[in-house]
Amino acid sequence: MKFHILTLFPDMVDTCLQTSILGRAADNGCISFHTVNIRDYTLDKHKKVDDYTYGGGAGMVMQAQPVYDAWKSVQKDGERIRTVYVTPQGRTFTQEIAREMAGEEELIFLCGHYEGVDERVLEETVTDYISIGDYVLTGGELPAMVMVDAIARLVPGVLHNAESAQTESFQNGLLEYPQYSRPFCWNGKEVPEVLVSGDHKKIEKWRQEQSMARTKERRPDLYEKYISENTCICK
Ligand code: SAM
Repeated sequence: MKFHILTLFPDMVDTCLQTSILGRAADNGCISFHTVNIRDYTLDKHKKVDDYTYGGGAGMVMQAQPVYDAWKSVQKDGERIRTVYVTPQGRTFTQEIAREMAGEEELIFLCGHYEGVDERVLEETVTDYISIGDYVLTGGELPAMVMVDAIARLVPGVLHNAESAQTESFQNGLLEYPQYSRPFCWNGKEVPEVLVSGDHKKIEKWRQEQSMARTKERRPDLYEKYISENTCICK
């Protein structure tokens, strides 16, 4: 899967994508990243990419021309690549959206900055408006990285242990159970006995109960949804 990231701050994006699991997956060829510096596409002789907002108001707006030309540079002839504008005005990103997007061969992420991007170029290019939550950040680079990370780790081959993505929070509508590692006793606290019993059925049952209890306590909204979707109404 190939990710194209259109940004004014390519260094910020590249550093993040070359690190840890994503960097290794890119080295192995499971995924690839292509960062496009929008500033390289401006026709302004001073390399300007933003200007005042029509109608007055605080802040600058990213101009249509450099954004459009940067976007065009990654489009293939006759094929439109799905293009995500990360914006607080979009639908909220979820694991379900990550799963669905992991099925794409290519994705473009457009990172806004300043007050945002000229509406006309968004109308011409964007297929999905996505937010990472109800708060406003200074730029779209962090939201794009959040989304790329969540999507990329669902691409086959990116995680060493594909099973770990199967048992994680949100995968089956619940939060994941608690996890422990060595030593068995730390700070006077022991690992729950069942986890060293070697009885896989018991362990699975314990984990399911823990998942349910944790979800009920921390995310009652998810818990209610899970219960309503998994309760069999028998006559
Ligand atoms: N003026 C815009 C508004 O009120 O909706 C906010 C612009 S924000 C300061 C600059 C850029 O950061 C946006 O164009 C967007 O790309 C990104 N951004 C900020 N908050 C975000 C969020 N919660 N989710 C996704 N992108 C966000």
